[in-house]
Amino acid sequence: MPILACMGMALLIYFLLSENIASREVEKIKCSKCKHEIDSSYEFCPKCQEKLKESCRKCNSKIDTNWRYCPYCGNIKKSR
Ligand SMILES: [Zn+2]
Ligand SMILES: [Zn+2]
Repeated sequence: MPILACMGMALLIYFLLSENIASREVEKIKCSKCKHEIDSSYEFCPKCQEKLKESCRKCNSKIDTNWRYCPYCGNIKKSR
């Protein structure tokens, strides 16, 4: 195989890999109140301060306020 083709292949693989890494960035969610796009790890919306996550009363895991059950222990959330 000519050396240029080899380098081309290596570059191609490099670009494919780096693209995969870039697309694996933090998951984005939308604020239920102002629709602002935010990091899914945030507990509060940085724009309108809407509470997005709360702790499960049973296992203390961080759960989305829209979820009816805790996905970690199955505890039924009480409505606010
Ligand atoms: Zn918001
Ligand atoms: Zn739980």
